[in-house]
Amino acid sequence: MHCRHCGAPVTLPLADLGTAPPSNAYLSAAALHAPERWYPLRVLVCESCWLVQTEDFAQAHELFDAEYAYFSSFSSSWLAHARAYVDAMAARFGLGAHSHVVEIAANDGYLLQYVAARGIPCLGVEPTTSTAAAARARGLPVIERFFGRELARELQAQGHAADLMAANNVLAHVPDINDFVAGFALLLKPAGIATFEFPHLLQLVQQCQFDTLYHEHFSYLSLTAVQRIFAANGLEVFDVEELPTHGGSLRVYARRSDGTPRAVEPSVAALLARESKAGVSSPGFYRDFQQQCLRIKRELLTFLLAAQARGLKVAAYGAAAKGNTLLNFAGVRADLLPYVVDKNPAKQGKHLPGSRIPVVDEARLRADRPDVVLILPWNLRGEIMEQLAYVRAWGGRFATAVPGWQEFAA
Ligand SMILES: [Zn+2]
Repeated sequence: MHCRHCGAPVTLPLADLGTAPPSNAYLSAAALHAPERWYPLRVLVCESCWLVQTEDFAQAHELFDAEYAYFSSFSSSWLAHARAYVDAMAARFGLGAHSHVVEIAANDGYLLQYVAARGIPCLGVEPTTSTAAAARARGLPVIERFFGRELARELQAQGHAADLMAANNVLAHVPDINDFVAGFALLLKPAGIATFEFPHLLQLVQQCQFDTLYHEHFSYLSLTAVQRIFAANGLEVFDVEELPTHGGSLRVYARRSDGTPRAVEPSVAALLARESKAGVSSPGFYRDFQQQCLRIKRELLTFLLAAQARGLKVAAYGAAAKGNTLLNFAGVRADLLPYVVDKNPAKQGKHLPGSRIPVVDEARLRADRPDVVLILPWNLRGEIMEQLAYVRAWGGRFATAVPGWQEFAA
């Protein structure tokens, strides 16, 4: 395979998780009678530009055509995050009725709703029909397309030029990262700003967040790699913040390389130095990761097998993509984990891809009174433990499997 950014041959492995179906391909009852397509799930590191990338087997359209789509507004902490982002950007960059904000991967309008509420004109770009429809239902203008140079040129020709472009949790999901980033340089005003949020590779490797590896994630990003990719595609990084979201994310601020100059904040050099010290640009940094994946798998299976032997009831909460990577890599099936609770009605009644564990609503949890609730989206542990605090009434406790097996009193 050749690097998606620089074209160099890519051979250094980060992880080999065997095979897995697309992690968002939830199965209807009827689909249970049909076979699923499993693809190899391997992640490799480019030793030229240090872009960490999933080996490409499935076509992007196949992965994103799934009937189910992720609706950002189902997470209250993510909504609070979006609102705080809009407040901060409006204050820092003086956005108002004269400005134009474009969000790429606008999803169901979880973020642009706060932009519109401030009277700032905005546009969402969102290729998934169901979430785009939800954004339109909020009165937000949405273009149902994938973003890249071609769409940026079309929007530019229609008179769009952005003061702020936001791209939250999408940079890692695009197969052609060069084309995607180049689109920002085209659509920004000369003084415009683009921000990108993505899970930080440093946290992924150091915390062994291997369950964030799946086919729909094409890239795993460090600032080191991002700065290089941006520079090659017309953007300059001028600030970076570390965020607690998704187990540790970066928010990178960029401007057009040919646009209005801006001072580069000390945060950029500081983080690049930290990444360099950690070893992001050396093969040794990636060497132990596979062993850590196996350790987490072993700890999870050890717990589930012992729980079954002791007659403990175990349930899972949160039918998120990362849970599917974990459960499929560990080979967990409904005999060890009979159901997963999710509050999204679109997932209830379906089955997880691969493991085929049924997704049920919360009433099942209250009726079943499990001894242990395994929280699959460990990044939302606080929010979920608060929401399920009633588990305490029957002496239930919580657990997470990543970065190592941990149990928590309710
Ligand atoms: Zn490369």
